[in-house]
Amino acid sequence: MESYENPLCECACMCGKGKFNVSYRIPDKGRDRIEHLWEIHCSHCRGLYNIEKRGNLIGVVKKPDEMAWERESKEMGKEKSRGLLHKPKFIRIIHEIRKLLHRPKFIRIIHEIK
Ligand SMILES: [Zn+2]
Repeated sequence: MESYENPLCECACMCGKGKFNVSYRIPDKGRDRIEHLWEIHCSHCRGLYNIEKRGNLIGVVKKPDEMAWERESKEMGKEKSRGLLHKPKFIRIIHEIRKLLHRPKFIRIIHEIK
């Protein structure tokens, strides 16, 4: 069986100038783990966020010691950066990820991994 990659979802990045792409790859026979590939297609967000795997979950996390984040926080002001979490764009991203997790295709993949 050949390896292949399938796009799974695409959503706006945190700043809205680029996007996140998620695809998965079925490994060759003999290797049982399906690999998910997350890519940040935004130079701004790539500097601020990492894609991290924690157990079976993959998520976008803020780089803890990123100087760029500090600079941006100062520029935006603390009030404004707190407001980011309530922005419709951010909420939409969370919603997209939740929708993705409930897709039959994804549930099937999760089931296969277990
Ligand atoms: Zn971005």
